[in-house]
Amino acid sequence: MAEKIIYELGSPGRQSVDLPPLDVPSEDAGAMIPAGTRRVKPPMLPEIDELELIRHFVRLSVLNHHVEKGFYPLGSCTMKANPPVNEVLAALPGFALAHPWWPARLAQGSLRLMAELEAMLAEICGLSATTLQPAAGAHGELTGLMVVRAYHESHGNPRKRVIVPDSAHGTNPASASLVGYEIVEIKSDGDGLVDLAALERALDEDTAVFMLTNPNTLGLFERRICQIQQMVHAKGALLYMDGANMNALLGIVRPGDTGFDLVHLNLHKTFSTPHGGGGPGAGPLVVAEKLAPFLPVPRIVQAEDGSLRWDYDRPQSIGKVMTWWGNFGVLVRAYAYIRSRGARGLAQVSEAAILNANYLLALVQDRFDLPYPGPCMHEFVLSGDRQKKRGVRTLDMAKRLLDKGMHAPTIYFPLIVSEAMMIEPTETESRESVEEFARALLEVADEAEENPEFVHAAPHSTPVGRLDETRAARQPDLAFKRPKT
Ligand SMILES: *Cc1c(COP(=O)(O)O)cnc(C)c1O
Repeated sequence: MAEKIIYELGSPGRQSVDLPPLDVPSEDAGAMIPAGTRRVKPPMLPEIDELELIRHFVRLSVLNHHVEKGFYPLGSCTMKANPPVNEVLAALPGFALAHPWWPARLAQGSLRLMAELEAMLAEICGLSATTLQPAAGAHGELTGLMVVRAYHESHGNPRKRVIVPDSAHGTNPASASLVGYEIVEIKSDGDGLVDLAALERALDEDTAVFMLTNPNTLGLFERRICQIQQMVHAKGALLYMDGANMNALLGIVRPGDTGFDLVHLNLHKTFSTPHGGGGPGAGPLVVAEKLAPFLPVPRIVQAEDGSLRWDYDRPQSIGKVMTWWGNFGVLVRAYAYIRSRGARGLAQVSEAAILNANYLLALVQDRFDLPYPGPCMHEFVLSGDRQKKRGVRTLDMAKRLLDKGMHAPTIYFPLIVSEAMMIEPTETESRESVEEFARALLEVADEAEENPEFVHAAPHSTPVGRLDETRAARQPDLAFKRPKT
């Protein structure tokens, strides 16, 4: 049934608020507005009482799937529960109303929060310095590559090439190319990991950096990371980690200890900011000591009297990468999240993320192709090749899951798995909800065998069926249409 629009509700004369009577004659008030811009007819507003109005918007709010409504295993995107207490803290007036133009002496609390968050993220990564400016993961990558370039330039040669594995997130080569580097893609080996021989062939004195995701987008840990770092560093190149999915490593492995020189994190994935629909997010960049001089300005520094201030005097800095200081509300949430978990709690986050993913994999793996066998880290990637032979594609199964009240996994990524389904249950799901999702996925596998046509026509229960997703994203029509009068 089509949703009613707001004008189809209520009845003439009904309203949600009682405004006090005008305290000036309405003709006088009208006369103050220039004639050409004055309304001749009253605006056509919906005439609806408050309860009906609230119900209308609550109904609309649950038409879309979201993590507070149901399971959301969108691999790599980490759609996990975000503790509401973070929202309360980010809304504290001292934070929410702080103006970026305030002088540092009036913003000591906010500066301290940022300085402590920088230090905590550096500790988590096993590196030395953090910038909180980048507004997203891809922006962190861009910042990182600018830092890489500045570092090599300071040694007399910016170098030419960036190496990325074929399983990398598309933002990696895109960021490298924005900074003016050529991209060299290397194939993964039969286990889905970096092919060391291919890496050896690609590496030379013109390699600026190797961008690696660990665990990679197949959800697999790069076991030979120590060898990789030796090979990369032997050529004077740097080793970058795409740490968007840090919830597999928190408190267990520090990227810096395994030889990474710089890492970006996605606070809106791992560190508990609600995300989707384009932001806001934060993609801090964490770097080794030797890269710190190149980080964006301003940096937070402590003055002799112990107070904090902004320091712009960094001659080697790449400059600013964001207006003001970053997406501050996201930083408050990350700070609250880390402090409320504590060191042990963060390790438990990763342990639970890995356990949930492996449990789910064990429940479903017999019914799907699994090109790169587990154990996995925080996510795993199935292939729908078996079902495709029955005429059911991964897209069909993803749509069918919506009928069962679940969000679909990430599909058709990473590109090296055909008919890919990239599944990340996250640490915040209970055993029961993981099992419920497994049942739903197995039902879809049954249906793909018994009734492929039905799966192919899914979804059957959502307000809209299959959309032109590219057009919906690129040319959204969100205009409020009201009936003709
Ligand atoms: C999400 C993600 C990114 C990009 O992060 P954005 O905040 O969307 O720009 C990069 N790499 C990986 C592995 C990711 O999962």
